[in-house]
Amino acid sequence: MTSQTCESGLHAHSHFSVLDALPTPQQMVAKAQSLNRPAIALTDHGSVSGHVLLEKAIEGIRTGEQGREGYHVTFRGERLEGIKPIYGVEAYLVPNIKKNRQKKNHVTLLAMNQTGYRNLIQLVTRSYDEGFYYRPSVDFRMLSEHSDGVIAMSGCESSLYHRYLAAGDEKNAVKYLQIMDQIYGENFYAEVQHFPHAKELHHRAYTLAEELGFRTAITCDCHYLEPEDRVVHKMIMAVRDHCGYDEAFDLKYAHPYEPDRLLRGLQKMYPDLDWLPAFETVADIVSKIEHYRLPKAPIVTYAMDGDKIGYMRQRCLEFLRSQNLDAKLTYIDRLNRELAVIGDKGYEDYFLVVADIINWAKSNGIMVGPGRGSAAGSLVCWGLGITTVDPVKWDLLFERFVDPTRVDPPDIDIDFEDERRSEVFDYIKQRYGEENVAFISTFMRFGGKQSLWDTAKVFGIPDEAIHRVIRYLPDRSSGDQRAELTVTDALDEPEVREVFAAYPELEIAGYIQGKIRGLGRHAAGVIVTAEPISNYAAIYRAPGTGERLVALDWRDATHLNLMKIDVLGLKECSMLRMMAEHVGMKLQDIYDIPLDQPEAIDVFNKRDFLGIFQFDGQAVRMVGSQMHFESLEQIAAVNALARPGPLWSQATAAYIQGRKDGKPHHVVEYEPARALLERTYGQIIYQESVMQILREIGGMGWQEVCEIRSIMGKSLGSEAFDNYFSIWEEGCRSNNVPEQHIRQIWETIRSYGRHAFNISHAFVYGLLAYWGAWFKANHPLAFYWAHLYKARDRDQEERFLIEAKRRGIEFGTLSLRTRSLGWEIRDGKIAPGWSLVPGIGSKQGQAIIDAGPFENEDGLLAVKGIGQKTVDKIMEYIDVPIEQFYAMEIWETFENRTPIADIKGDDASRWKGEVVGRVTKINKKSRIEEATSRGKEPPNDGGPDEYCTITVQDDTDNIVCWIDNLLYEKYYDTIWSSNGELLRVRGERANFPLIVVKDIELIKEMANV
Ligand SMILES: [Zn+2]
Ligand SMILES: [Zn+2]
Repeated sequence: MTSQTCESGLHAHSHFSVLDALPTPQQMVAKAQSLNRPAIALTDHGSVSGHVLLEKAIEGIRTGEQGREGYHVTFRGERLEGIKPIYGVEAYLVPNIKKNRQKKNHVTLLAMNQTGYRNLIQLVTRSYDEGFYYRPSVDFRMLSEHSDGVIAMSGCESSLYHRYLAAGDEKNAVKYLQIMDQIYGENFYAEVQHFPHAKELHHRAYTLAEELGFRTAITCDCHYLEPEDRVVHKMIMAVRDHCGYDEAFDLKYAHPYEPDRLLRGLQKMYPDLDWLPAFETVADIVSKIEHYRLPKAPIVTYAMDGDKIGYMRQRCLEFLRSQNLDAKLTYIDRLNRELAVIGDKGYEDYFLVVADIINWAKSNGIMVGPGRGSAAGSLVCWGLGITTVDPVKWDLLFERFVDPTRVDPPDIDIDFEDERRSEVFDYIKQRYGEENVAFISTFMRFGGKQSLWDTAKVFGIPDEAIHRVIRYLPDRSSGDQRAELTVTDALDEPEVREVFAAYPELEIAGYIQGKIRGLGRHAAGVIVTAEPISNYAAIYRAPGTGERLVALDWRDATHLNLMKIDVLGLKECSMLRMMAEHVGMKLQDIYDIPLDQPEAIDVFNKRDFLGIFQFDGQAVRMVGSQMHFESLEQIAAVNALARPGPLWSQATAAYIQGRKDGKPHHVVEYEPARALLERTYGQIIYQESVMQILREIGGMGWQEVCEIRSIMGKSLGSEAFDNYFSIWEEGCRSNNVPEQHIRQIWETIRSYGRHAFNISHAFVYGLLAYWGAWFKANHPLAFYWAHLYKARDRDQEERFLIEAKRRGIEFGTLSLRTRSLGWEIRDGKIAPGWSLVPGIGSKQGQAIIDAGPFENEDGLLAVKGIGQKTVDKIMEYIDVPIEQFYAMEIWETFENRTPIADIKGDDASRWKGEVVGRVTKINKKSRIEEATSRGKEPPNDGGPDEYCTITVQDDTDNIVCWIDNLLYEKYYDTIWSSNGELLRVRGERANFPLIVVKDIELIKEMANV
């Protein structure tokens, strides 16, 4: 036996073999390393989605694979030169794709080099395009068209070879080997495995292949990494096959072996056979395969003649001229600096492509948001029309957008009108070629609750046990590094431990959390390339819709240089266009709205937040209602201030106090650093401020600054900062920063910086809020109409209706002459359309419009699909005032209640009384977790750990009600089982508009309203 080259890792599955295998590619690499293997193959079922992760793992790139969107830090990890990645696939083979209704047979394919790799991904693309029937399938003809550079092995027990043999049909088994031999020649190998349950079958497979002169390789068909994982594997098989644990398929021995052990086992099982040649064949195959890198796509190209940077400069200069800014040196310098970086990195095509898409949308009357994320920090983006914010005026940082030290492409996300996104997608396809455009995949994973429920179902664990556990699952966002450890971490709770002790199988839930359970489409990401994407990555088809999907999630697509553009749908964009159209403005007029109109800013000062973008959110309202606004800058700041970090760290409170006092409350002592925090009243709330301090006070290079920025953006914890302290210290010293300040500023950055927000994003979202407020102040009729039209549900509609009525907006009625489906403006009044009648869908509504208008109800009766019963129903809504249409009078029956809107303003700060409303949100909190997350000692007062906040909504507004831990126990049932019924909540207002609850009561008699 030739030492370590005798291994059997040529056939192995990761969790991209959905609901069929357990390990992640990273775990497989780690295992291969521990077994000292020279190579590791990845052969998922019909899928090539794990390949990039395999390459990243071997190249020492941390991937954040556990489903954490937005987390892809390249760290200077250890490159595993020793391990060769082998990119393969276990394809589904049918003899003839035109007769694809047959049983799918497995065949193992491995790419030897880049040519082979390209063939492999093209084959997989075709398996979706031409061969999809339950599974993506290929036939012999397709195999032969993509055989160059590919090694084929005859396949596992589900291969044609083994199946013919099992059926006693040796003739066809031999024929299969011969066909494959014709296709692949010297790159074809017979494959045998070592599963004891089919001892004779594998014996015959081996001996027959040898008799015919085929070289035979031994493989393990690895589906999990450790023998004890077999139970977990069997459990996911039960999920896949919707059966109980005992009925599930039990795949024994599908884990990697040490070669010696495997050989000894085989010799014992088959004393008459010599297995050494099968091991040598494996070694031969490994050495035949090159250690190559996955092919990287060229950056998308924008078709034009001449110098692209020159063209961009010219367009930006023209734009600056139109703004009367072309004579200002700060703008010209900034433009040149940005263009130099963009040209240096070769991103000009990307910028031009994005600008082209946005300008197409605008010229076709589709409203595009002012920008999103850090792109608003770029003057070039402004000049090309990608964003509509002046980054010089608002002091937004370009380096936050394009990291000058890294090769990662910049990320431009764009908001379009939600209902017109498909037009944008169609344009991109038509302009850049169907073959060069595809959506991005997302892989759905087992969440904490899902894995508990699935485990319970498979093992017959009662629901009640799971209910007891899921209450304790920590609520973590997908960006949190511990997002997929919630089941494991819930085990800190004694009650959870108790349940797990009674049902030990539940532990499996902790193992499967985070594993892939399905393929989906990313909501917004589109890949656009210069060449057909299938030269670089396989294209799948989305389940259901058949849309083209790059086989990778966005992080892995980026690794192959496949550039992503996020085409997002935003309701606000649609509403802005509707409002503008109604008052006779053009799209461009929205972008030109003056940003300092006192009436518009007053909307914020009057706490008139209903329908104002982002200010509808609880935290933003709470912060917003304590501020006095004078400019867009302060409106934008609320987006940064209303986040948990600054709220906890008191930066928000200090900022607000600073505004009130008219002077900053500084968190740093050193004067030059203070100067950089002037605009945020001495507080660190923006990442850009930190970057400026690091640059200007610590003299740090962009490399380190951008690395620290990335730590801030990815909640990697304050420890990650400390690697940079010595560089900071040295830089400060050479800038003559007094010793006592060096540590103080650093500590401040360390504790506040990790909560800091992206200022560019705060600005563009502040701008959207401002535009909405401008319409609310200047064109309230259009404002309420658009918001009613786009309201998400009836609750939201009622809130706009009530506020509009209080403001004196007039409402019309639904009549037999109405010609609209949704809300419309008729004769200066807002009036309901047909689909607002309960039970009338848009199809029926359209039929009524098409047949109308009517003189009387007989006309309605003649409409196809509308019976007498429906007509009677409709007639109840014809010509009735809006209050009756919406049955809104119920609220007036609660005599003692205060409308929630009345508690919100400053003047109600001493309010005490009762409100009536429905619970729309329950937020259970843990005192222990909160204390720990703030680095404090957990409370030790013997009281219950939990408390909770509920959001209560009435016809005027909603408000957060705070229930302390003792009351939470008392009202536990009332809160959790109110189910949309009305509650009476008594309490008093805190300093913030928040009710501290005294008692809660369910209003039983009104339960049916
Ligand atoms: Zn198989
Ligand atoms: Zn397999």
